[in-house]
Amino acid sequence: MMLKLSGEALAGSEGGFGIDQPTLQVLATEVAEAHALGAECGVVIGGGNIFRGLKGSAQGMDRATADYMGMLATVINSLALQDTLERLKVPTRVLSALEIRQVAEPYIRRRAIRHLEKGRVVIFAAGTGNPFFSTDTAAALRSMEIGAELLCKATKVEGVYDKDPAKHADAVMLRRLTYDRCLSDRIGVMDSTAMALARENKLPIRVFALLKRGNIKRVLLGEDVGTLVTE
Ligand code: UDP
Repeated sequence: MMLKLSGEALAGSEGGFGIDQPTLQVLATEVAEAHALGAECGVVIGGGNIFRGLKGSAQGMDRATADYMGMLATVINSLALQDTLERLKVPTRVLSALEIRQVAEPYIRRRAIRHLEKGRVVIFAAGTGNPFFSTDTAAALRSMEIGAELLCKATKVEGVYDKDPAKHADAVMLRRLTYDRCLSDRIGVMDSTAMALARENKLPIRVFALLKRGNIKRVLLGEDVGTLVTE
């Protein structure tokens, strides 16, 4: 299983900055429980709680430079998650798409697969290593590379709704969606590059609430939690 966590999830509150340790502890416990089931777990973590390339470029920065800063932000988050997981006695490796050899192993596909086979949680840091992409795309790409059966996208809400549940009390959760509908209706499950990649490779995506305790485990045990995006 591949799990995509947004950087914002680590901040504990919407629009929050930095890393909230109690929130990180909850997240790591969820991953540890999934790992304890014997599942091979990969994690891609975003950087939005620290830096987003788009925001930097909106303020006049060179977009590619801003994106590299965003990728470095994901490395910070990855190390924080690794630290918390290891304190929970879960063996973890951080593999970075940008070479930062003193702090993380370089991303090498076969090495990632080997770590997973050995029961280590693999955190994929620095996104795809390329500017103009997102960590959603990195999650879809790495999922395919390691042969993940499912991409889990943990979000703030229970799943995908027909309208914004924060604004509309009558919003209905959609249990099933197709890649095509997500792309044509611009449903913001993942950005369109990530969604197109998932569609091309028939990678199922499950969207569910991040901070609902036991959710990752439920998904792994085959429960129909949240929204499933397939063909
Ligand atoms: N980023 C990038 N290439 C990638 C992945 C990420 O350039 O392959 C940069 C981009 O600037 C992005 C930032 O890293 O804004 C943080 O990632 P993202 O916005 O996906 O994080 P999230 O929204 O999940 O917290």
